[in-house]
Amino acid sequence: MDDQQLTRYSRHLLLEELGIEGQARIGAATALVIGAGGLGSPAALYLASAGIGRLIIADHDTVDLTNLQRQILHTTARIGRPKVESAREALAAINPEVRVEALHERLDDARLDAWVAQSTVVLDCSDNFATRHAVNRACVRHRVPLVSGAAIRFDGQFSVFDLRDAAAPCYHCLFPEGEEVEPVNCATMGVFAPLTGIIGCMQAAEALKLAAGIGHSLSGRLLLLDALTMRWTDLRVGRDPGCAVCGPQPI
Ligand SMILES: [Zn+2]
Repeated sequence: MDDQQLTRYSRHLLLEELGIEGQARIGAATALVIGAGGLGSPAALYLASAGIGRLIIADHDTVDLTNLQRQILHTTARIGRPKVESAREALAAINPEVRVEALHERLDDARLDAWVAQSTVVLDCSDNFATRHAVNRACVRHRVPLVSGAAIRFDGQFSVFDLRDAAAPCYHCLFPEGEEVEPVNCATMGVFAPLTGIIGCMQAAEALKLAAGIGHSLSGRLLLLDALTMRWTDLRVGRDPGCAVCGPQPI
């Protein structure tokens, strides 16, 4: 680490749990962020400011005026531009050392597979079940820890699925595909702006801990937040031995 880096990350280096070794591990890590929206914005901003080595961010969408209420990577001046390009500009302005790879596409299974295989940690900041399940399948296949977040109306949801631990559940163990009720999204249901910030920041926190190899992750627990009452529910969650994705006979 050079003098500039020692200064930039000094408040991390002061943390004895993290220190120079932990910071170096963060600097050597690759984070894949799926979605540059309400959750992906704060998550990517903190990953970059905290010195993640390589940040791959994928989103097929362009910046729209309705996004700016909560998607803090983007600006009024960048309306109409691809979100991942807007993200790259915002992240480079904070920390030019981070290698940002902007994927302006909806990743299919094959592309997801290739990018997940290169990642230290994956953050699911998407807004639909099909993507969540596809990301989970790739993370299970490659045993890459998945930090999963969701926010709709005033309800937040947050967990880590780390299949490097044989007892840990995957996303599909908790939310089997096909059981979803009708699709819910912010465009029809609305979302409280700072709720996406709360959940997205927690995703960054867990991703940085996993990259640095410190503390205990949220694997095996599911946190639910009701932002109207600011009450958290902390549930223990276990593996489904018959799970079609991480079970003995994966699909
Ligand atoms: Zn499973």
